[in-house]
Amino acid sequence: MTIKRRHEMGDGGCCVCSKCGEKTLHRDGVPCQEERCPACGVKLLREGSHHHKLLQQKQQEKMLKKDSG
Ligand SMILES: [Zn+2]
Repeated sequence: MTIKRRHEMGDGGCCVCSKCGEKTLHRDGVPCQEERCPACGVKLLREGSHHHKLLQQKQQEKMLKKDSG
């Protein structure tokens, strides 16, 4: 019998809305991408995941563009 308790991202943490940035507590056994934002209803991302980092990069780029006019 193998024990599959170790998740790639570890236990705990948060899910983050890709649209409004709303954070919800990650529920064990439920992928963030199957959760929906309570505010706007879009798919959530796991905080700190590859996709979340990509999103943060995009948001930073947007902000930089705004700053430069
Ligand atoms: Zn949202």
